[in-house]
Amino acid sequence: MKIIQSKLLKQFGNLTQGFTSKEHGNLAFHVNDSKIHVINNHKQLSILLSYDFEKLVHMKQVHKSEIKVIKEGDAFSNPPTCDGLITNKKYTPLMVMVADCSPLLFYDSKTKTIAVVHAGRAGAFSNIVQKTLHSFRDDFCSDMKDIYVSIGPSIGECCYEVGEEIYHEAKSLHLDYALNLKANTYYLSISKILHKQLLDNGLEDKNIEFSKECTVCKTQKYFSYREQGETGRFCGLIMLN
Ligand SMILES: [Zn+2]
Repeated sequence: MKIIQSKLLKQFGNLTQGFTSKEHGNLAFHVNDSKIHVINNHKQLSILLSYDFEKLVHMKQVHKSEIKVIKEGDAFSNPPTCDGLITNKKYTPLMVMVADCSPLLFYDSKTKTIAVVHAGRAGAFSNIVQKTLHSFRDDFCSDMKDIYVSIGPSIGECCYEVGEEIYHEAKSLHLDYALNLKANTYYLSISKILHKQLLDNGLEDKNIEFSKECTVCKTQKYFSYREQGETGRFCGLIMLN
């Protein structure tokens, strides 16, 4: 029942990191699952990865682009409302939960700072990547060339059909490069947007890794909102040791 580790981040021995799958169960409290069941899944994961369950910080994710620096008192029992978390504190696991949206795990190898980000269409369209990187720069004095990022399984262009209104919105934001027209239907690639935003903000291409797995194609393995409607959430997790 190992989690799927990022190959890119694996080179750093001081990190606990990776992405869960359906095997590890649903980790979200807001999806009509029993609270005891969800807590039990979190406890199992903490045993598997050897961290203190109470210290894990997750988020009430709201499809906006606020990034919060972890404060004293942030803990499992009171998740902040935001879509990104950042810290240089050790033994403080950060978690992002998804079912089709992109889970991003960041690491600055110089300042030893970590972050997690939730980016769906709204996050990609509002450039949450840039807000995250500005927090690295302004709050932790990071240099962009020291930052590594791994993006876990999410809905792929193969399965992300969008309507006219999304097409027009993307076009108005100059994101048409991420749209592909096939048989009169537009398909959107969130990964293409995130990749360009990461590069535009100064990250090195060799320090960026995308999972090739699509959550809708691989619904046996991952939770997918688009495929299943009401469903659980899997996660991306990172912790400094
Ligand atoms: Zn797909």
